Amino acid sequence: MAVKRVLQYGEKSLREPSKEVHKVSRKIHELVQDLLDTMYAKNGVGMAAPQIGVNYRVFVVDVSKNDEPLNPLVFINPKIIKKSGAVIAQEGCISFPQAYTDVKRYANVTVKALDINGRAFVMEAKDGELLSRAIQHENDHLDGILFIDHCVNRFETDEVLAKHNLPPINPEMLADDSELDKELNK
Ligand code: ZN
Repeated sequence: MAVKRVLQYGEKSLREPSKEVHKVSRKIHELVQDLLDTMYAKNGVGMAAPQIGVNYRVFVVDVSKNDEPLNPLVFINPKIIKKSGAVIAQEGCISFPQAYTDVKRYANVTVKALDINGRAFVMEAKDGELLSRAIQHENDHLDGILFIDHCVNRFETDEVLAKHNLPPINPEMLADDSELDKELNK
């Protein structure tokens, strides 16, 4: 369909919770195509609907490597139904150009969602790999949660944000990562 403008950190829709999709209609198909077109245009591994200003519970992910065929995955009304283990790794976001920081995530997640045909599926992403990280990152976008909310060190992250002329962390938005911390300390 079209490459859309990607909202940048500070814009309102990124902090707003998204609505459930009631019917996987033609409108939703168009939204998915816009997300894929925009994600590929920006060389991202994932893109959530709020990032193009549409607050519906839809995201796309493609973790294929450059020399592999494209492997677009579509998640509609996703729910993470199982999570375990924890890992720390550098993460970025297309809505935060060039800003990378260490972020805590679960190593393994199981996600339930609808596919592009409206059929339910369950997917497991394990071992702290890119797919697991991408699913958690994109799923968070649907609740107005951003990767910096899971940062390992708030002050280091603020330095990175300042370097890229982005607003600092709002301490009230930091996620409660006590469960994740427990997993990290195991
Ligand atoms: Zn993002």
